[in-house]
Amino acid sequence: MQQQKKGTLFVFSGPSGVGKGTLNAKLFAEFGDQIAFSVSATTRAPREGEIDGKHYFFISRQEFENRIANNEFLEYAQFAGNCYGTPKPYVLSLLEQGKNVLLEIEVQGAMQVMERMPECVSIFVLPPSFEELERRLRGRGTESEEKVRARLETARGEIAYAPRYQYQIVNGEDVDAAYQQLRSIYLKETHQR
Ligand code: 5GP
Repeated sequence: MQQQKKGTLFVFSGPSGVGKGTLNAKLFAEFGDQIAFSVSATTRAPREGEIDGKHYFFISRQEFENRIANNEFLEYAQFAGNCYGTPKPYVLSLLEQGKNVLLEIEVQGAMQVMERMPECVSIFVLPPSFEELERRLRGRGTESEEKVRARLETARGEIAYAPRYQYQIVNGEDVDAAYQQLRSIYLKETHQR
């Protein structure tokens, strides 16, 4: 029996406000039949409009601890005071089925995935400048001043990890240009080009 080709695992990171969501949405619009987005578990409260099971699985800290103890996460990390984790069985089974899987995760978790699954493809999205990132984060207006400051501080730390990723994309003025880079990385790494 011929073995089905395994999917490719993509690890996608970048500071909050850099436009990861927009780039992912474009990738999904074009290649949605080949890609699955992993839905993470988090202890953070849902934001307005977020749906349990779609954007995240919103769980308690106790439940999160239980899942760590049961080795249910491919990786997990703390970010801005909350816990986030990638469900391992879900991701592994999608890859087995030949789906390409995209993990949109922060840097600590990404380092764990790169170590555990070195065949993964890692991509970091950079802002054109730190000032621009600040402007975008404030413009989003979903967070208090204190939280924005905390996220900016975290962003500085995260950007320092960019060189450890295989690919870096700058999301500047032209989101379509950034998308073209992401698209060509995707095609190359899934052997469609
Ligand atoms: P947010 O709270 O804005 O949805 O996400 C905060 C950060 O956590 C983002 O950088 C996001 O990519 C990251 N994140 C989301 N899910 C996971 C996960 O399962 N694991 C890790 N390590 N980070 C995650």
